[in-house]
Amino acid sequence: ITILGIESSCDDTSASVLRDGVIYSNITANQDVHMDYGGVVPELASRAHQQNIIPVVHQAMLKAGVTADEIDAVAFTRGPGLMGSLMVGTSFAKGFALSKNIPLIEVNHLQAHILAHFIDDLNSKYDHPGFPFLALLVSGGNSQIIVVKDHLEMEVIGETIDDAAGEAFDKCAKVMGLPYPGGPIIDRNAKLGNPLAFEFSRPRIQGLNYSFSGLKTSFLYFVRDRIKENPNFIEENMNDLCASLQYTIVDVLMNKVKKAAKETGIKQVAIAGGVSANSGLQNALKEAADKFRWKVFIPQLGYSLDNAAMIAITGYFKYLKNEFIEQDAAPFARMTIK
Ligand code: ATP
Ligand code: FE
Repeated sequence: ITILGIESSCDDTSASVLRDGVIYSNITANQDVHMDYGGVVPELASRAHQQNIIPVVHQAMLKAGVTADEIDAVAFTRGPGLMGSLMVGTSFAKGFALSKNIPLIEVNHLQAHILAHFIDDLNSKYDHPGFPFLALLVSGGNSQIIVVKDHLEMEVIGETIDDAAGEAFDKCAKVMGLPYPGGPIIDRNAKLGNPLAFEFSRPRIQGLNYSFSGLKTSFLYFVRDRIKENPNFIEENMNDLCASLQYTIVDVLMNKVKKAAKETGIKQVAIAGGVSANSGLQNALKEAADKFRWKVFIPQLGYSLDNAAMIAITGYFKYLKNEFIEQDAAPFARMTIK
């Protein structure tokens, strides 16, 4: 079975070819047009997707060594994401499926971030989690703790009531004058700083939910006050600021994961989504694994940020269950894990 996966939910245009459960190619075009705006500009994103989609799909098929006629089904991100961006991938997928008379598979982008843990590619076979496992999904738009009971059966047991963890990284980066997306830059700077240099107020939220908007505000006010005393405060303390901020976000994330593991008794923990690339989070997860005897799973970098391989593997699991959709499918800006 050969599946073409298409991802276009935000600012990455990506295509991937999967054959019999193995990823043969995963090609992504990033958009640098948003750098100067401190965030993704929806109109620019959809225009760039339109320019990129055909070359990206072409490259993915070329690299995989398959022709369009060899593809058995097309899986695409139906949501959640930016409407204009989703529209490009959805329209392409529908057109491709129609012209080749092959089935169409809708994919929930969030579910796909988690199922990235089931990817094997031509270079490696990875260790996959067994069921059930806990997933911490931390991305630009979501922060959720999920019990994964089967490939396509997931239950959200905790989630953010306001900002996502990635948003907290990006918004605080903006406060420090760093370009978008700031998460990876904070991660890099944090390695050179002292995580205990500054203290920021932590959310007090009951249960397994998160809240990050207070932290963002507290960071903003803290920096603003210090700048009044010393206009060069940010430049002089960049690494310590990044390290302390990252330490706080990671600690908040991990505390609820520990609570979830304790409450559910589940000892396999996977992280997923863009923020799972964060080195502080990865280290904290490994520490917890030693301490609590968890088995932990960290995605390969190419499969943690937005990519079509995760869409293709999700499409594969749905293909095996005959979960197809019709040509009248429209994208959803909002879509949750059921
Ligand atoms: P969603 O998946 O919820 O729709 P998204 O697709 O925009 O959102 P991803 O592409 O999964 O999100 O992740 C992007 C986010 O990950 C950004 O907020 C970015 O700053 C963050 N990120 C990426 N690498 C790192 C890192 N090393 N440290 C911290 N944050 C990071
Ligand atoms: Fe994503």
